Amino acid sequence: MSDGYNFQQLKAAILALSRATDWEVAKKEWRLVEISEADEPETCLCGHFPIIELCSISNATTGKSVDVGNVCVKRFLGFRSDLIFQSLKRVRADLDRAIGPDATAFFHERQVITDWEYQFQQSTLRKRNLSERQLATRRSINRKVIAAVRRRGLS
Ligand SMILES: [Zn+2]
Repeated sequence: MSDGYNFQQLKAAILALSRATDWEVAKKEWRLVEISEADEPETCLCGHFPIIELCSISNATTGKSVDVGNVCVKRFLGFRSDLIFQSLKRVRADLDRAIGPDATAFFHERQVITDWEYQFQQSTLRKRNLSERQLATRRSINRKVIAAVRRRGLS
């Protein structure tokens, strides 16, 4: 691929960590477990540099985990991590906005937001006119989500 994202290289690296030998099957062994942001740009498994938005993916069958760039995760594995990063950018810029459905489900699954907050998110996600109290809750959820995404580069 001419834009620096080398699918063959990524595929070989992921297959080496998978049980399945067929790519379409191997993909299904993986799930998105965490997102983070690099302080120092890193290199994706596909060879692309620089990547800042990192997705940790894990294989339930082999127990392997690996970090892949946000673009490859979406393009080649089909996870919508890009929507989670978009939500993050949106609420960083304006705490009064809401994170989207993908981020809501992801951060609930990671236990960053509680069951109650999960319900709250669903009933207020698309609302623009919140009461003061609802707005305070939304901001508190946003702060937790922002704090949950680790920056790395010290390790
Ligand atoms: Zn990549």
